[in-house]
Amino acid sequence: MVDAGDLARSAHRFTHLEFLREAMEAACKCEALPGAFSVGCVIVTHWPELHSPPIKLSTGYSRELPGNTHAEANALSKVDALSTADLMEVFGQQPPSTKDILKNADVYTTMEPCSVRTSGLSPCANALIEANVRRCFIGVKEPTDFVVCEGAKKMADIGIEIIWLEEVADECLAIARKGHPLQP
Ligand SMILES: [Zn+2]
Repeated sequence: MVDAGDLARSAHRFTHLEFLREAMEAACKCEALPGAFSVGCVIVTHWPELHSPPIKLSTGYSRELPGNTHAEANALSKVDALSTADLMEVFGQQPPSTKDILKNADVYTTMEPCSVRTSGLSPCANALIEANVRRCFIGVKEPTDFVVCEGAKKMADIGIEIIWLEEVADECLAIARKGHPLQP
């Protein structure tokens, strides 16, 4: 029999950095492409209260879903795809809607959510803004290898709290550039 108090305490041990490390592990699964970054993302919520222990909702990484898909969009679409039965398993008989759980969500991503997509797909920053997530923990700012990214600024402008986890920035950048030609 698992004690609820023990569960809560063990969940609390997961620090923000640990979730970011899980996102880094996801990023390592990306198929490396010289023209794109390898990024990982984990989405966590706190329910029923903001101070409730974190509950992991989904993980995503670049190109995991078909097409030139991005980590954050993939993780978000997995949350959107949760069925009532899935939600009941986690939240009990009367589960909140995915819209509600996303309001309390913390997004952990190894690289700044994109604000410009050359592929025509919607940028991840826009998707996270539409999902109305609460906070976004980021490993590293998107370098200007391909485009100038303003994802973090866009999200901060509408009130999403942005937290940079600088301790892992170099590591996240190295993973992101896997398979790229050497930088000058
Ligand atoms: Zn993106």
